[in-house]
Amino acid sequence: MEILYKSTRSDSKPVTASQAILKGLADDGGLFVPLQIPKLDISLEKLAKLSYQETAYEVMSRFLTDFTEEELKYCIENAYDSKFDTKEIAPLKYADGAYYLELFHGATIAFKDMALSILPYLMTTSAKKNNVNNEIVILTATSGDTGKAALAGFADVPGTRIIVFFPKDGVSPIQKKQMVTQKGGNTCVIGIEGNFDDAQNGVKAIFNDKELAKELDEAGFQFSSANSINIGRLVPQVVYYVYAYSRMVAAGNIEAGDKINVVVPTGNFGNILAAYYAKNMGLPIDRLICASNENKVLFDFFATGKYDKNRKFILTSSPSMDILISSNLERLIYRIAGDDAEKNAAFMRSLSEKGIYEISDEMKKRLADFSGGYASEEETAKAISDLYKKCGYIIDTHTAVAASVYKKYVEETGDETKTVIASTASPYKFTRSVMTAIDEKYDKMDDFALVDALCGLSGVKVPKAIEDIRTAPVLHKTECAAADMKKIVKRQLGVN
Ligand SMILES: *Cc1c(COP(=O)(O)O)cnc(C)c1O
Repeated sequence: MEILYKSTRSDSKPVTASQAILKGLADDGGLFVPLQIPKLDISLEKLAKLSYQETAYEVMSRFLTDFTEEELKYCIENAYDSKFDTKEIAPLKYADGAYYLELFHGATIAFKDMALSILPYLMTTSAKKNNVNNEIVILTATSGDTGKAALAGFADVPGTRIIVFFPKDGVSPIQKKQMVTQKGGNTCVIGIEGNFDDAQNGVKAIFNDKELAKELDEAGFQFSSANSINIGRLVPQVVYYVYAYSRMVAAGNIEAGDKINVVVPTGNFGNILAAYYAKNMGLPIDRLICASNENKVLFDFFATGKYDKNRKFILTSSPSMDILISSNLERLIYRIAGDDAEKNAAFMRSLSEKGIYEISDEMKKRLADFSGGYASEEETAKAISDLYKKCGYIIDTHTAVAASVYKKYVEETGDETKTVIASTASPYKFTRSVMTAIDEKYDKMDDFALVDALCGLSGVKVPKAIEDIRTAPVLHKTECAAADMKKIVKRQLGVN
């Protein structure tokens, strides 16, 4: 069955998967959604025998129906290889009544690697399929993590270049070191004088510069974005929920067909939406538990049906979830509005104009699969410390938000369904917050002493991503004024 994609904001002509991946965002500003969610028409017993890569093929081929078997397998094999530090790619670890799905074994030790290691291959394959011969130039402004994950994903991928701008004094020293040491002949990392908004605005201006696009096209280049709303980032995330389930069947934790619950520490709503798609494919998931930190817009939304971003932005110890506009929620809103693009567009207009919208009771009923929860900073720290003391297993701050929310959920409901918690970052990525949650005495140590102390406590080898920061040479030294970003891009691509 062919799966086509359309915008969440109007009823323009549907496009193929490869066209949706190439475009990223629809022309009307909406997100691409599949016209229907394909069924997982393969038995759970069979899935239980498959490797991660084989599972990825079974799941992704149902969504990306215009990719040939050869094309898709090429993408999967190049993405999920030795960049990951375990053959399992996404191992499942049991601790204190829950199954932690470790999504942080890739190049930048956070779950963004799961999608960003395959997106470059999906994109270049999509370009070929649509007779685009230009080299794809990924342009990104970053406040830290996404930039590094995109760099690691696109480094040395044939047919691509990647240029990343970051505010030179606006990222942490570790984040900066991670980016400026990036290897790969096609990578370019530039610190700008200005803040993240300046970098972001500069990139937007370059994207919207029609004249520049024409010049680049003549020179054999075209821009694209590795933004998290690309359907090419969502589909690969469905895979690991199917994989987690099949591992539990294989290990005898559940019988094929038993329901499980899933808890996801949420920011932009991409990861949990992938779990929702997995459920809609037919994977036996019962509840989808959406965990927020103190920026609890989503918790309030699930409780009241009102999405209201007009509130104080709180900086927490789980920064990747410090988000007030969860862009991927739009795909769910469209769905519960009965696939009604006009209705959805009106909600999104209200969000951008007033910062608020409220769904109808009927739409609210369609959210019955979801539970919302949130954890305060104290609860998050306590979840890390409790789990360590009980099992010796150390989780990062984002995962701890989910662990805390899950514990409260069980206390409130008594629900004993076996549960998978998406573990979205290695504790080594947020060492200081993690270690001080265990004991405040660690706050006196410097960053690398803390890394060694974490290694001592957890018995988990220090990941390569962290070792590299200690030793890797700085390869990118260019800095520029925000006003010169376009000039730098042209120079970088040899276009004058
Ligand atoms: C991006 C991120 C999240 C949030 O995921 P969404 O898909 O944006 O909801 C959670 N934890 C970590 C570590 C992340 O990097």
